Amino acid sequence: MSRPRIVVVGAGFGGLQALRHLERRIPSGAADLSLIAPNDYMLYSPLLPQVASGMLTPQSVAMSVHRMTRESQFIPGHAVGVDTSDRTVVVQRPTGEFAPVPYDRLVLAPGSLTRAFDIPGLTEFAYGNKTLAEAVLLRDHVLGQLELANDSRDPVEREERCRFVVVGGGYTGVETAASLKRLCEEAALRYPELRSEIRWHLVDIAPKVLPELGDRLGRKALTLLRNLGIEVKLKVTVREVTPDKVVLTDGRALPSRTLIWTAGVSPSPLMGTLDKPTQGGRLEVDTDLRVPGLPEVFAIGDAAAVPNVAEPNGSYCPPTAQYATRQADTVAHNVVNSILGRPLKEFRHKDLGLVVDLSGKDALARILKLELSGCSALAATRGYHLLATPSNTARARIMANWAIRGLTGGEISRLGFADDGQPASFVANEDVEYMDTEKARSEGARLLENMKERYG
Ligand SMILES: Cc1cc2nc3c(=O)[nH]c(=O)nc-3n(C[C@H](O)[C@H](O)[C@H](O)COP(=O)(O)OP(=O)(O)OC[C@H]3O[C@@H](n4cnc5c(N)ncnc54)[C@H](O)[C@@H]3O)c2cc1C
Repeated sequence: MSRPRIVVVGAGFGGLQALRHLERRIPSGAADLSLIAPNDYMLYSPLLPQVASGMLTPQSVAMSVHRMTRESQFIPGHAVGVDTSDRTVVVQRPTGEFAPVPYDRLVLAPGSLTRAFDIPGLTEFAYGNKTLAEAVLLRDHVLGQLELANDSRDPVEREERCRFVVVGGGYTGVETAASLKRLCEEAALRYPELRSEIRWHLVDIAPKVLPELGDRLGRKALTLLRNLGIEVKLKVTVREVTPDKVVLTDGRALPSRTLIWTAGVSPSPLMGTLDKPTQGGRLEVDTDLRVPGLPEVFAIGDAAAVPNVAEPNGSYCPPTAQYATRQADTVAHNVVNSILGRPLKEFRHKDLGLVVDLSGKDALARILKLELSGCSALAATRGYHLLATPSNTARARIMANWAIRGLTGGEISRLGFADDGQPASFVANEDVEYMDTEKARSEGARLLENMKERYG
């Protein structure tokens, strides 16, 4: 292979980091590196709740692909199919057109989507907090509800607009509920009449919140949430959503115009198109991150089922940024070694723990076996995010945002994104039609032929 074409799908914790490791390992000009992704930034999603609460600007968590890569080609669009026999990815560009991208080595890291359940009204009326657009819209929507409630004399409307329901007791749900509850408290300083009417609920079908933190910190999280004024209801979930109410499985109907759904993720549908075994939608890979039977295709991150050899129970790695980032390093090493005909290494990583920012001064952290709460947890949480942020520019922006917020307090003006009142559906980014390997094969061949005719 004179000049191998290495294609990475996805600009997230796995994909973009893998590309950067590849750029470091491969001498300049020795390979063609390409990145396919719908957006030209890596989203630092663990800080999305802080974008939703206005603590951070959206730009500070969107890390530019162009700043972070040196000589890779960025291809905007969704990878919608992979022709594994002729080694071509079919990309749907933002214009709707299709384009073929041939590869010698392929790294699939398209991440995950919010997991939707078959609950009436959910996809029509729920809000998510998984993308930058959703976080920005969520803030606008919540502030808009308070504004309208304050302006209404109808007690039913005021109740509906002042009640917010978050589903999901994992880190996304807990951090989103806590940070938005605090945003509402700040807003209530301007709307004193609403202060006693604002209600936040957090519900989860599980018997505890944040199970990853362990029992002691999990109980502490529950206490902190309740002290913050969030009603936590466990062992229940949502049965139905309408524009003005959320019906729970225990029969309770909560008058509310805001349901925020954070109950889990499902892997990118791209992984199901390869005609290879999946685990809950995640594409199965070997311990060296290669897809079995496709030695030139690798998969990592939330969309890959990576055997967790460092854990004794033989489970798969959890879908977290912590694992995706480490897998990126291993995959870059293995891509290069597979080209050079050298041995590949196994992915191995021992979980380092979890940090949870409950906003204000509240935080919890489990770092290896160390359990922290209070100021030490807050310092660990902030420090972890700064260290895990893969760009100095972003790090500087985040720190500046925290400092400005500390000095000047929060802002409660809406930006106008939710003016049409339409929720951002959490499956919005999947307005994409995927194709199986057969279709990708015929489409890829046709597109390559067209290209040859046009460009020679
Ligand atoms: C609110 C929130 C808080 C979180 N907090 C934490 C935390 O504290 N700690 C932690 O470890 N993890 C946390 N996570 C989870 C973490 O963000 C994910 O596990 C991590 O992003 C997975 O990395 P990834 O590379 O697999 O996917 P992502 O980082 O999601 O990247 C996927 C990339 O693929 C692109 N893409 C999608 N479909 C296609 C396609 N068809 N073609 C091309 N590109 C595509 C996307 O646009 C994106 O660029 C959090 C997640 C959320 C939403």
